[in-house]
Amino acid sequence: MPNSDSKKLTVECILFDLDGTLYYSPDYNARVEAEITAIVAHTLKTHVSKAKLRLDEERKRRGTLTGALRVLGVNRGVFFETLAEKIEPLTILTPDPSTILTLRTLKKRGLKLGLVTNNGCKMVGKILRAIGLEASLFDVVVTSDDTEPKPSSQPFLFALDKLKCTPDETVYVGDRVQAELSPARKLGIKTVLLAREGNTQRDQVDVVIARLPEVLNLIEPRQD
Ligand SMILES: [Mg+2]
Repeated sequence: MPNSDSKKLTVECILFDLDGTLYYSPDYNARVEAEITAIVAHTLKTHVSKAKLRLDEERKRRGTLTGALRVLGVNRGVFFETLAEKIEPLTILTPDPSTILTLRTLKKRGLKLGLVTNNGCKMVGKILRAIGLEASLFDVVVTSDDTEPKPSSQPFLFALDKLKCTPDETVYVGDRVQAELSPARKLGIKTVLLAREGNTQRDQVDVVIARLPEVLNLIEPRQD
């Protein structure tokens, strides 16, 4: 469904989430989920089924994987390093021409682009290669190796500082309301929910879109 309220957002910077936003692959998600559970089971020295239960419970409670890892006592840096060794996104993910075109068009329009992800740095590099996005498209890339992960305000503030943008001249595009869009909105950043599977918590974000290229009709560069 197209953006029904045809609202225009006038901004200078666009921050994107990575996983579930710049790519979406149930096959890849299933592969990653299996590996995440295996790593947690190994770290906690427990059976895979038990690790999965605890992980699911904490993710539900904390809203993010990184939040769950923290309460389970799993070191985030070591976890993402291990995940990046075990998973090869190139074997599963493929470039989506409409996503590549969307980002390149925004860049050509003179907007500053940022990537704000809870994933680890090494994995982010692998994923970007697999989905055909060169890291140089982004004026800043913030991973959980750089700051505390979302829903902390730190990754947003870090990105704004690097881009020299204020919250009101920035929009954040992501697929999770509680974990990222709500905290971004609290800072005064405009918010776009990419609702691939009918997530319609519309009252908590500025705009809801169903496909990433819709941002091209939505976002206008600020004229100074
Ligand atoms: Mg996401």
